[in-house]
Amino acid sequence: MSTAAAPTGQRMRKTLSCTAAANAYQKQFGLDLKRRVVDEGEPFAIVQADTPHEIFHAMDIPIITNQWWSAYISAKQLSGRYFQVMADQGYPENSCKYCSLGLACTLANDPATAPWGGLPKPTVLVARLTCDCIQHVFGQWASAMDTEFFPMEAPAWEHKDGQWFAHSNRDWEEIYQPDRIALMVREMRDLIALLENRTGRTFDEAKFQHLMEQINVQEGHIWKANQALARARPCPVSIGEQMSNTMIPQWHRGSEWAVAHAKRFRDEVMDLIAQGHGAASDERIRLMWIGAGVWHDPGFYQALEEKLGAVFVWSMYMPFAGPQYIRELKDKPFEALASRVCSMNETLHLPPWMNGWMASEAERCGLDAAVVLLPPDNRLSQSGTKLTALSLEQAGVPVLMIDADMVDAKNWDHDRMVGMVAEFLHQRGLA
Ligand code: SF4
Repeated sequence: MSTAAAPTGQRMRKTLSCTAAANAYQKQFGLDLKRRVVDEGEPFAIVQADTPHEIFHAMDIPIITNQWWSAYISAKQLSGRYFQVMADQGYPENSCKYCSLGLACTLANDPATAPWGGLPKPTVLVARLTCDCIQHVFGQWASAMDTEFFPMEAPAWEHKDGQWFAHSNRDWEEIYQPDRIALMVREMRDLIALLENRTGRTFDEAKFQHLMEQINVQEGHIWKANQALARARPCPVSIGEQMSNTMIPQWHRGSEWAVAHAKRFRDEVMDLIAQGHGAASDERIRLMWIGAGVWHDPGFYQALEEKLGAVFVWSMYMPFAGPQYIRELKDKPFEALASRVCSMNETLHLPPWMNGWMASEAERCGLDAAVVLLPPDNRLSQSGTKLTALSLEQAGVPVLMIDADMVDAKNWDHDRMVGMVAEFLHQRGLA
């Protein structure tokens, strides 16, 4: 049993009152879920982030998003312990981490340390087959929890539009391809049939239609705030708080609370901009963070704000609300939803969609440099990073790649990583 180095993660400073409200809501959601599922035996599902959560919301079936659960475990500095359990059980040390930390927690079977005492048996696990590993992770997790895995296809995307984000709200049928959309609609109908059969709940088409309309309202609030934030000098809110206030409502998208919270977040951002408030007292460098959040060290992004006036202005979470989530429904809510989900991972990790968007975002937000998280064992997250770095450098945006994992803190040292970014900014003449 190797003794992992003491975690060095640091807490994030919070400027917005709505950040605490979002965290409190998610905490209460966790307690309610535990009561509903463990005490009252209600059905629930474990799902990947890039699956149609709207189906479960329309059926009032609570979901645990795997990436959120993984980040939650990591933030509690438990990843080292659980990955050691996987290694002890014969899994390769270089197994990918982000999607498998939940499985590792289940395999550890240690209610004393596991958040919520560990997850109870779900009705189903759902994932899109976006990489070679996921069917193994979810397949083995389903058998470890004695339940079933519902895989969804991730068909190849032949329509290569590097400017997808400029017109995806309207031209989604053309961009995401009618055949890919039709396949996902069929799979969603199969998923509904399975859920109705296993849970006795019925799918309410009218409720689903309303949900899709409310999601457009919610994402509209976030996108409006992001457009203002991108133009503002200085940047009022750095990415740590952008993530919480975007992603916690995202896990509950279309709900009354999520729509109201998105509006509150927008209003607070607008107020800070009107006051000329800056996340750093003297903003001099505007940074781009490419990759998932460093969930075991949320304070990392703020570390250079005072020392160098270096502010992380951009990460994928908040701006994604606009081009990826907003859809003109065209009386086809199922097809619109399929277009939202069927390329969620591809646009974030694969060229030409990833580098096309990120190079455009660097220009839209006036970014001076980018830092790319390169998780060594995570195949999908690596795929488009090198071409994206090339596109950014060609656009005059210097790029630093750091080998580190979003949930596994074993190779992460806060001071060393902060020092690496500072050195890079000095070397490139920005600090
Ligand atoms: S490679 Fe990445 S996306 Fe695939 S299962 Fe592993 S962590 Fe998840």
